[in-house]
Amino acid sequence: MAEILASKPVVQAMGDDIRPRVERLKELGITPTLAIVRVGNRPDDLSYERTAIKRAESLGIATRVFELDEFVTEYELESQLHAINVDPSIHGCLLFRPLPTFMDEKKICDELAIEKDVDGISTAALGAVFTDSSEGFAPCTAEACIKMLDHYGIEIEGKHAVVVGRSLVIGKPVAMLLLKRNASVTICHSRTKDLHRMMRAADIVICATGRPHAYGPVHFSPGQTVLDVGINFDMNGNLCGDVDFDAVEPIVASITPVPGGIGSVTTSTTMEHTLRAAERVARQSGALQ
Ligand code: NDP
Repeated sequence: MAEILASKPVVQAMGDDIRPRVERLKELGITPTLAIVRVGNRPDDLSYERTAIKRAESLGIATRVFELDEFVTEYELESQLHAINVDPSIHGCLLFRPLPTFMDEKKICDELAIEKDVDGISTAALGAVFTDSSEGFAPCTAEACIKMLDHYGIEIEGKHAVVVGRSLVIGKPVAMLLLKRNASVTICHSRTKDLHRMMRAADIVICATGRPHAYGPVHFSPGQTVLDVGINFDMNGNLCGDVDFDAVEPIVASITPVPGGIGSVTTSTTMEHTLRAAERVARQSGALQ
């Protein structure tokens, strides 16, 4: 039986760290505040928004929702981001994506100031991840993977990690974060040959492809740690990951469930980034040592 790498204790530990730091800032007159920018009313955005607001409230972090019409122009959205960039009462900004297809998403993401880009969506923030600079914030899901490994004491240094998926949201940044922690990293994707052999050879496997239950016993071997980043729906409409959990769990050493795995840690990571952004401002003003 594998050890189940559940989010609950990780989220709890992160909360125990975050709450007193938030309180300390509040005593200095600074309330860490996250802006949530949503275009339209997509059900998954609304659902994540509710989760994020609830998590923020439980940690003492304030949220401000900016809801824009689905037919908003690029100019109007960019103006909203500029307003957030210069608003000293806002420390972090979460922009829900994908944006409407008529928009140049990359250009819009790049309008967000690096110090408020708490989900690492801008080229500047991603560049910081790839150059080991501490200037920006890594994409929250990528960092949540590292937090999950650290919480459960799973060693990264010297291990062979296989990342399946190469998006800028997860695959590439998590590969860089693993590399920074001295893992040897292989990145796989839809054109990888003999994917199952690559995956079986790893110590740590991170699946981030958005393919429900695509990875089964043939892809895994005993002793492995498996992080399932996928958020999908199975044929019955139930939430599921990329990994066939029931079939794989008896084989590997440890595995994250879906739901109750990486997703929840991602939300707490967004809050921690918002807090760090606020602490940075407090330090710059001399209010915080
Ligand atoms: P993308 O669609 O941007 O990327 C998917 C990646 O999977 C691509 O690199 C693609 O390869 C690769 N891929 C697709 N098919 C295969 C295949 N048959 N074999 C190997 N690799 C394949 O998705 P995201 O990275 O944005 O998201 C991935 C998953 O993570 C989704 O389920 C998403 O919902 C979930 N997610 C979870 C979050 C969380 O907090 N837990 C947050 C964000 C997303 P190629 O580049 O060659 O096309």
